[in-house]
Amino acid sequence: MTLPSDLPVVDHHCHLAPGGEGVRAAARFRKAGGTHLFLTTQSYAKGPIVRLETYREQFETTEALAKAIRTETGVVAYVVVAPYPVDLIAASVEIGLPAALDLHRAALDLAGQWARDGRTVALGEVGRAHFPVAPDVAAAIDEAFVYALGVARDAGCPAVVHSEDLDADGMRGLARLASSVSFPLGRLVKHYQRSIVPAEARSGVVPSFLARRDLCTASLREDGPWFWETDFLDDPGRPGAVMDIETVPKRARTVADRSPEDVERLRIPFVRSIESVYGFTPNPEAVPP
Ligand SMILES: [Zn+2]
Repeated sequence: MTLPSDLPVVDHHCHLAPGGEGVRAAARFRKAGGTHLFLTTQSYAKGPIVRLETYREQFETTEALAKAIRTETGVVAYVVVAPYPVDLIAASVEIGLPAALDLHRAALDLAGQWARDGRTVALGEVGRAHFPVAPDVAAAIDEAFVYALGVARDAGCPAVVHSEDLDADGMRGLARLASSVSFPLGRLVKHYQRSIVPAEARSGVVPSFLARRDLCTASLREDGPWFWETDFLDDPGRPGAVMDIETVPKRARTVADRSPEDVERLRIPFVRSIESVYGFTPNPEAVPP
């Protein structure tokens, strides 16, 4: 069967770069059947970030790219910005840990202002390094994470968390951290999740599953909220390093072809989870065929 025309097809986390495939990647996504992208910011230049102005320019690059995607391909691209947690490591080498942490907080404040102004739909990525780091740096990253959750709470937007893969215990720990700063559960998204944790064991953390075939099949059986994402990394130096931008539309089509009885369940990641976590409805009618 074909996918229902009122069903949006949404990649919940990807990166695109003006110096990479950029808008052309979004055009491929559209051609494959995708309608909406969550476009997460990234560092577009090489080297450590040591000035707030660099973050401002980075966020503006993401915003401009989202607008170009909308105009040139019809795909709706939701902007997600925050300073990347791992940035703190390189910055601390350049300017020292205290100054790096101050800069990171200032960039988080800037992202919070963007959320209040409606220029970003969430703070992301925030969180922790996914590899071991020196204890003092790890402590600073944790401090920045708690600060980020406070900023997102005050701005009233979701937080998209970068961390190692989480099991039920990991999700409980994350939920406890969020609760300690009164961050509302249900708006805390764990991106790049690679294991299935049943809804009742998620402690309110919302998983965004990597759109691997096995994870898509298994997650479709799970209660929401949850998302599918590619974490597409638009890096010409690393072609094929990550999942391709066409993956989520392909997975949706596979469901329609092989298990049409499950098509309505696609409304969990593509509609209902967005409504419950972000508070808006992605409208597929907004996207021209
Ligand atoms: Zn990412």
